[in-house]
Amino acid sequence: MKDTFEVVVIGAGPTGLKAAVTLATHGVETLLVDENHQTGGQYLRRPPSGPLPLSGWMPPAKRAGLSLIEKLPSLPSLTVMSATTLLSLQRGFTLALQSPGGLLQVKTDRLIIATGTRERLFPFPGWTLPGVMAAGGVQLLLKEGGKLPGRRTVVAGTGPFLFSAAAEIVKRGGEVVRLLEERGIASQLPFALALASLPSKTVEGFVYMEDLLRKGAVPHFSERLVAAEGNGKLERVTIAKVNRRGEEIPGSRRSFETDTAAISGGFLPNTELFSLLEVPLKRDPSLGGWVVPTLDDLHTSLPGLYAAGEVTGVGGAEKALLEGELAALSLMEDLGRKDSDLTKRKEGLIRRRRGALRYSRALNTVYPFPKGLFGNLPPETILCRCEEVSLKDVREAFELGCDNLSFLKVFTRTGMGPCQGRTCHPLVEELFSLWSETQPERPPSSRFPSKPYFPFQGKRPSDPSS
Ligand SMILES: Cc1cc2nc3c(=O)[nH]c(=O)nc-3n(C[C@H](O)[C@H](O)[C@H](O)COP(=O)(O)OP(=O)(O)OC[C@H]3O[C@@H](n4cnc5c(N)ncnc54)[C@H](O)[C@@H]3O)c2cc1C
Repeated sequence: MKDTFEVVVIGAGPTGLKAAVTLATHGVETLLVDENHQTGGQYLRRPPSGPLPLSGWMPPAKRAGLSLIEKLPSLPSLTVMSATTLLSLQRGFTLALQSPGGLLQVKTDRLIIATGTRERLFPFPGWTLPGVMAAGGVQLLLKEGGKLPGRRTVVAGTGPFLFSAAAEIVKRGGEVVRLLEERGIASQLPFALALASLPSKTVEGFVYMEDLLRKGAVPHFSERLVAAEGNGKLERVTIAKVNRRGEEIPGSRRSFETDTAAISGGFLPNTELFSLLEVPLKRDPSLGGWVVPTLDDLHTSLPGLYAAGEVTGVGGAEKALLEGELAALSLMEDLGRKDSDLTKRKEGLIRRRRGALRYSRALNTVYPFPKGLFGNLPPETILCRCEEVSLKDVREAFELGCDNLSFLKVFTRTGMGPCQGRTCHPLVEELFSLWSETQPERPPSSRFPSKPYFPFQGKRPSDPSS
């Protein structure tokens, strides 16, 4: 394989797909890299083999994304590397990739990073029990394998993704015992208004709601999952009512028998690769947390580097597609491929992006991380799942003067496990800002390798050739 490309795109979700297809359609020699075995990212997950599921009704963004995947083999200027992780990178740009064939180095002058989001989870006693899962994990099992993780599922947390995950469960024959949203119904009005400006999203919402109501899965608002219990696996959850300030209402606890809890506290942008390049990030909770600041046309502060999709603000698949194309057009202009059609299209996309950012701000403002849950969390609740560090350990370290994530790592090993702090660091950030009444000034630090390195990826360790 060649080791130099005109452009490299990292992430083959809707953003990266749209960027790469736009570039390759115009003859720009492009490498598209994704760690998953399939292209499509989070939104376009599907069974590992068989035809693309293009028949029947589906949200327009999903159809557009699948059509991009269909086009990939017909583009001679495009090389796609799946099951390939970008482990590290240097300015210039030199990329260290881990592919099924081994480690390799690729060079490029222009890089689009579209690494998307991950789910933000929230802690409660028992959240480490088998059977308690990220709602995205449940959706992955259903979309890729058609498998239900259990028979009776409680879906809990905050944000519209809960409805999409619950709808998927009932569609595949599962039972949603209780669907609970942290936010009260009235406080969701600004989001409903923002949704109304995106007709396709509104229709998608109605379709999910119809699927749910038909199966008797009525959503309950102002409710929180506060505990999970079971003997070695989940058997029961406890829920409680919360008031408008997010505080638990005393005496409102109730329990439900269940074998699965699907939880989600919203999404966080995956910005680690930008941190490795020392690109300054900005903390903007109305865009989902630490995001990459860009110009309107998605240039970052580093020449040759473009940021697109969820990394500039959590806003869903429509924003992702739009920004993928915009980054590609900006890049083509920088390569000197200017023409009036391209400039006009780019200006139109910049205008539409403002609308997409308005939706993104409404989403993240209406469904913030439910900080109120910390008020009732027992001290022994685990925060760092990998290293089993409890709330009490973190509080003790904080009281000894440990008020940033780097110190905390040294004191308690929080964030030193295989997830590299992706789950616990956002929780600790919220706690530190609550306790110190200040906002964090720096994002969690990133280090090489950006993702855990598996020397035997693609081969079984027992294989003598590996
Ligand atoms: C679990 C989950 C479920 C979601 N479901 C929905 C939904 O139903 N509807 C909706 O509108 N939105 C959903 N979203 C939000 C969704 O992320 C966006 O709508 C959309 O997929 C964003 O597109 P993207 O291309 O920016 O990111 P993504 O789709 O997240 O794609 C980013 C890609 O980058 C790859 N990547 C990341 N780091 C590396 C690396 N170091 N090396 C190589 N590859 C890397 C990832 O594997 C991924 O494929 C979901 C998000 C998550 C996390």
